[in-house]
Amino acid sequence: MKLEIINSLNNLKLLNDNPFTLQKIAYWLYEYNDLHKEVKNYSKNLCEECRQWKANGLPYDCLQEADYCTKRYSYFTNFYEEVEYGIKMQELDTVCKVALEEYKTYNNDSQLKEWLIKYFDIGYNKLAIFYYDHLDYSVDNDEVVHPHFGNSPIGEFGVCIDRKYYENLIEFDDVFKMLLYERNIYPEKLKEIEEEMQKVAVPMIPIPKID
Ligand SMILES: [Zn+2]
Repeated sequence: MKLEIINSLNNLKLLNDNPFTLQKIAYWLYEYNDLHKEVKNYSKNLCEECRQWKANGLPYDCLQEADYCTKRYSYFTNFYEEVEYGIKMQELDTVCKVALEEYKTYNNDSQLKEWLIKYFDIGYNKLAIFYYDHLDYSVDNDEVVHPHFGNSPIGEFGVCIDRKYYENLIEFDDVFKMLLYERNIYPEKLKEIEEEMQKVAVPMIPIPKID
């Protein structure tokens, strides 16, 4: 299994155009779908060590990647799933395109509010995370940023997929945030979000000064 994993990652590296095309990533996922399943299945039964950790209520993922641990290839399945997420997100680009076309025909606040309600799940639940975790990583403002979906556990390369496949999604995200936060088109929802945030936020405790 280890050899197959190494081969699969090496093959992915060979496909890299920096950024990747969507087709090549889709091909790679398809090609190694069975391997992913196999590794997943293998890791289902915990090793003795992991079982102990679990029984004690501790996180169990043998980080040492010991030979006896069934989770020792999780670096591969984790990576595979990160890349797969990139493709799943891209599928939303078509929905975002339709949403943007609709948006452009609207001109009053009540229509815009209906729009926000209709696309709230995508805009708030799915895209917010996408933006912060996968697009907002560059420190250089002039750089063209391609969405990044994980680093290969071997071979020192990351997976960036060309942003041209995500253009509608990125534009949608801008419009959605502008309407929700700046123009406050859906105030009751925004209030609800802020109240939720307050509950989650850890209260700031000043650090005692030591003389
Ligand atoms: Zn284990």
